[in-house]
Amino acid sequence: MDAAAVKALATDLGADLVGIASAKTLNAFPPDPQWPQTPESISPHVKSVIVIVQHIPVAAFRAKTNIAVQYIDMLVLRRMDRIAFKLAEKLEQEGHPSFITAAQETDWNLKRASYGRLSTRHLGIEAGLGTFGLEVNILTPEYGPRVYLTGILTELELEPDAPLTEQVCIGESCSRCLYSCPSDAVRHFGIDKRNCATEAQEFGFAQITSFFDRFIDFTPEQKQEFIKSRGVFGFWQGLLRVVGSFGDCPRCLAVCPVGNDYHAHLSDVQKFIPEKTPAKVEKAKKFKEDRKAGADVPGLNDWNIRWVGPEGYKGMVARQMQEFKKKQREREAAAEDAEAE
Ligand code: SF4
Ligand code: SF4
Repeated sequence: MDAAAVKALATDLGADLVGIASAKTLNAFPPDPQWPQTPESISPHVKSVIVIVQHIPVAAFRAKTNIAVQYIDMLVLRRMDRIAFKLAEKLEQEGHPSFITAAQETDWNLKRASYGRLSTRHLGIEAGLGTFGLEVNILTPEYGPRVYLTGILTELELEPDAPLTEQVCIGESCSRCLYSCPSDAVRHFGIDKRNCATEAQEFGFAQITSFFDRFIDFTPEQKQEFIKSRGVFGFWQGLLRVVGSFGDCPRCLAVCPVGNDYHAHLSDVQKFIPEKTPAKVEKAKKFKEDRKAGADVPGLNDWNIRWVGPEGYKGMVARQMQEFKKKQREREAAAEDAEAE
């Protein structure tokens, strides 16, 4: 099987996007060399990583509450795992041992925060599927950051895709993700994972352990009261359906203007960002000045720039929007013609 055949199979199985990264490159460029999240740290035999992307249905980001996105995320992940598993199975039938790792896993030995054995966003970038946004989500030109990714690790040597060199993210002059973030976790092409987790993993591992830390010291009366709290119900929901353990906060995904799904269905409801404050505007302004001055920004240093897009932003979103509007006008004209006939 060659790269084209593998991609065709992934698409037939239902993947929205698919790309291929070389294990050699992934081993040579771990996201953080101090804590290598690499294929070789899992298996020395892996030659290629096939990366598949599933988009999150856009209706979830038009809802009034976060509940829609929280549940649909779990469905997207289950669907993605099934597609990846079938692809790995087919590769093995063809003689190439292959496996998948959990798309949303945490290895607590890595920096004591939510880092998995592999970083799926870095896999996606190395497979040519997108580049980092200001909040270090992967932004795909097709769906912006409203995606999940997983990797199929295979012993089959496949032609890798070339990473994008143009920055997909509009960058500091946009900063909409920063404005929308309820925990002010967005850094300059970086993220404060602990701050983000307070919103995005409302009932996640760190919250559960800190809950029990406090619970142990409570009086019997306080325990009675606490047991009926929203937190305990949240943990129960998490055990039942994984809901609330991660992917709880949709704000930076919902407001990002990259992707035709945004132009088609989100630009109206997400244009206004109620969380925007003068302090956040100042922060974005400083980011813009630092970028212009070539200041020492860790997210943009020589190591990290390969995932941001070394050529910088060259108007991809504006071009995409013009193309989208052109197609929309053509569709409207065709509909009018059909009505007139
Ligand atoms: S909202 Fe703007 S700044 Fe943030 S990731 Fe999207 S394009 Fe980049
Ligand atoms: S997921 Fe929510 S809390 Fe985390 S960076 Fe995005 S907007 Fe901020």
